[in-house]
Amino acid sequence: MDAITAAQTLSEIGYLLRQQEKERFRAKAFSAAAWTLALERPDLEALASAGQLTSIDGVGEGIARVLKELVETGQSRYLNRLREEMQQPARADESNLDLVDYRGDVHSHTGWSDGRATMQQMAEAAQALGYDYLGVTDHSPRITVVHGLDAEKLVAQSREMSEVQRNVDVKLLQGIEVDILEDGSLDLPDAVLEILDVVIASPHVKLRQEPAAMTQRMLRAAAHPHVDVIGHPTGRRPGAREGATYDFEAVFKEAARNHVAVEIDCDPARMDLSPEMARLALECGCNFTVDADAHAPAEFAYVPMALWMARRAGIPKERILNFLPLDELTMALEK
Ligand SMILES: [Zn+2]
Ligand SMILES: [Zn+2]
Repeated sequence: MDAITAAQTLSEIGYLLRQQEKERFRAKAFSAAAWTLALERPDLEALASAGQLTSIDGVGEGIARVLKELVETGQSRYLNRLREEMQQPARADESNLDLVDYRGDVHSHTGWSDGRATMQQMAEAAQALGYDYLGVTDHSPRITVVHGLDAEKLVAQSREMSEVQRNVDVKLLQGIEVDILEDGSLDLPDAVLEILDVVIASPHVKLRQEPAAMTQRMLRAAAHPHVDVIGHPTGRRPGAREGATYDFEAVFKEAARNHVAVEIDCDPARMDLSPEMARLALECGCNFTVDADAHAPAEFAYVPMALWMARRAGIPKERILNFLPLDELTMALEK
């Protein structure tokens, strides 16, 4: 049992526990332990046979028992029981996802908005993971609390990007995470969006809009000629904040028609889309991105720990942009 597979098991347990009010604390513990495994990739077999699994940061007795069983049997009865209790779909067999084929993340933040690291640090972290590319997608101006980027700042950012690009091997894509405003228009003019390599349009505010209005809002974003990806499509935070409700089928079909990908945001606090919703998007013909939405280098590990979600939804790698080589990704984003 390698650390990444174990991380995905703990992450799925954390995700399922998060849906239960009384288990929130335990859910966070499982997610945190999953994150440690994905980051540090300890030798679980050696630690298990030495009885030292609890020496891993964030692994107490309970999680150690789950890990021990995973090492010994490749299974977790606890996870199987949770899946059954929560009637989770079993589609994993239809998926051919393997982390080694993951080529790069297209949604990340830097100190230009609310990220906690510089572009150089984020680029180096992506390079260390062997990524071919990294989308730098800071926030648009409407998100005033995080000092979003207007046209002027984007120009300044692109100058820094050329500098950083000279020092790293990973291809940096300049992008934006643009806010989908209440009426479905976007928080930056078309002329600005047009020149960026990647445009992620995400709902952040007024998520409790009445469903019919929310549907119109999302349909408009999905039909926008410069949008490449719908970011964390519901805006939910499992266990903390309900996401937006709208006619998902209509919006996913519109996205598919316009070659707009929908995102699986791997941040354990988001897990948005859920496996069930991702399955619906797959059936509606959508392509996907699977992103960490990293705000610091360590958060790139969210993808390895959460890849189970896409697998659980039965999504094949051919439908996920992050599995494309750079030239094909660039073609997919050219629209
Ligand atoms: Zn966002
Ligand atoms: Zn983001």
